[in-house]
Amino acid sequence: MPAPLPEELVDAFGRHIRYLRLSVTDRCDFRCVYCMAEEMTFLPRREVLSLEELERVATAFVDLGVRKLRLTGGEPLVRRGIVDLARRLGRLPGLDELVLTTNGSRLAELAAPLRDAGVRRLNISIDSLQPDRFRALTRTGDLGRVLAGIEAARAAGFDRIRLNTVVLRGRNDDEVIDLVTFARDRGLDIAFIEEMPLGHIDEHSRAEAFISSADLRERLADHFRLEALGDPTGAAGPARRFRIAGSDSRIGFISPHSNNFCHLCNRVRVTVEGRLLLCLGNEHSLDLRELLRRPQGDPLALHRAIAGAMARKPERHHFSHEGEPEIVRFMSTTGG
Ligand code: SAM
Ligand code: SF4
Repeated sequence: MPAPLPEELVDAFGRHIRYLRLSVTDRCDFRCVYCMAEEMTFLPRREVLSLEELERVATAFVDLGVRKLRLTGGEPLVRRGIVDLARRLGRLPGLDELVLTTNGSRLAELAAPLRDAGVRRLNISIDSLQPDRFRALTRTGDLGRVLAGIEAARAAGFDRIRLNTVVLRGRNDDEVIDLVTFARDRGLDIAFIEEMPLGHIDEHSRAEAFISSADLRERLADHFRLEALGDPTGAAGPARRFRIAGSDSRIGFISPHSNNFCHLCNRVRVTVEGRLLLCLGNEHSLDLRELLRRPQGDPLALHRAIAGAMARKPERHHFSHEGEPEIVRFMSTTGG
């Protein structure tokens, strides 16, 4: 008799894994300078999980106690069938929250259908409010379309919308006040993210562009009164959060370099090739695609493999912002 399946995923350090970030594509209509090289080779179709395979993966994780699911990529909204996939996942019994991270370029058309499909919250990435600079940072992006997408998302009635900004010294760090003002005036949250050394890029030096969350917080404190939000459960994950006094907007700082949050880690990722990544900053992984495509003997083989993999989740990440990246995969293939 095979061992019974656990009801929860718990790793060797006692951390409960309740959050899955599922990448639905490695493709994107942008080429953000910190995320991708200018010329990218994307995966051939056969190596990408089908919508049905993505659904099977998500279902297995939810059966095993995952309560929050984030659809990401690449750019999830370039994947054909994304709204239908969201609708099927939104109905999984036991799932508390279906959320999605997007660059916003297709939200003007898709925000309302996604909300209707059951997506509860959105993260929308925006690194500049200046059109030329926005174009330079994304290489292909049109700020006007993203702003229209943000408006469509506001009108669609998501529970919360958070802007994500990767801050690069000398490129957009002078805009943090404007970005917070923009978010606050629209009732949105905002998170500032330290650049992570994922994938090799030539466009800029990651070490020189680095700016710490502590630096940013000091600058913002001159303009806004920030009230620290306690988070005894660690549910907010790696973001340290503050409320802007007198508003409902929150500011988060995601600081993988300057703040080690690994002891609170409650998440794993699955890439669009079906690789279960146990840690963003390590290569520990398991090939789920091979299992998904194997002729079915044991109908719970996928569940068992996922549960068994938890024992290999590393205690902490190991990337540095100096020198060469230790992790060769890009954020877009990782599922950011
Ligand atoms: N395309 C979508 C988007 O841009 O929101 C979803 C995928 S993207 C990989 C998810 C998040 O990762 C974005 O907020 C992006 O800014 C961030 N990101 C990408 N590369 C990064 C890096 N090297 N360091 C830190 N954040 C990064
Ligand atoms: Fe595309 Fe998002 Fe990466 Fe930018 S950060 S290139 S939008 S996947």
